[in-house]
Amino acid sequence: MTAARFQRLRQVLEYRQPDLTIVTDNVHKVRNLSAIVRTADAAGIGTMYCAMPDKDYKAFKGTAMGSHSWVSVQRQPDVSAALRPLKATGYQILATHLADDSVDFREADYTRPTVILLGAEKLGVSAAGCELADMHITIPMRGMVQSFNVSVAAGIILAEVERQRQLAGLYSERRLDDQAYHRTLFEWAQPRLSEYCRENGLAYPALNEDGELVDGLAWQHAVREGSATTFDW
Ligand code: SAM
Repeated sequence: MTAARFQRLRQVLEYRQPDLTIVTDNVHKVRNLSAIVRTADAAGIGTMYCAMPDKDYKAFKGTAMGSHSWVSVQRQPDVSAALRPLKATGYQILATHLADDSVDFREADYTRPTVILLGAEKLGVSAAGCELADMHITIPMRGMVQSFNVSVAAGIILAEVERQRQLAGLYSERRLDDQAYHRTLFEWAQPRLSEYCRENGLAYPALNEDGELVDGLAWQHAVREGSATTFDW
């Protein structure tokens, strides 16, 4: 880990938006999901949720695209299971839905805690997803085709989300709390060591400015002695 790389990881975490996420409603094509994850990362989304069958999720995770390391992608069995906990904590649910009564996506206020709900390739957002939504949004289309590819729609909407949040100063100061920031930074900078700590019930040791352990030898010694700080993972 070079100091520059570690600095980059820190900068990315400074931009992360803990009150912004995506839920995909049975989007199943691996290339679409991968493109959505990349776009989510670029907008500062740290966690997103995929309502999909387990076998499709395994196929998706198996592709191991680079951006998967930076965005936590969590599977849920159905869209209600994904949306209800977020709705209960105050997120507005914006369903991307191609209907006559949907509002232009540029009219929504994305500075509020927000879920962007994206629909399946053929069927769009399910009835359950539409029902849980606070607003249905649409990207105007002026051509012959009736809809965008779902990952393209995600990109267009997230560009507007980024614009509004940037204007509101939401990328100007760190929004992750200390615990989430330091935990994620450690996992990104020291992926193998973080796995070892979790498997062995150890707290993550402190990192220096280069992303290395402050005193690696002393920590290894403490682990061998059984005196390293523990943590209930
Ligand atoms: N036949 C489907 C329908 O009527 O919803 C088309 C699904 S579209 C190919 C897949 C997803 O991309 C949609 O569910 C929505 O999430 C997103 N999408 C595509 N075009 C969109 C648009 N113009 N506005 C908003 N979302 C769009």
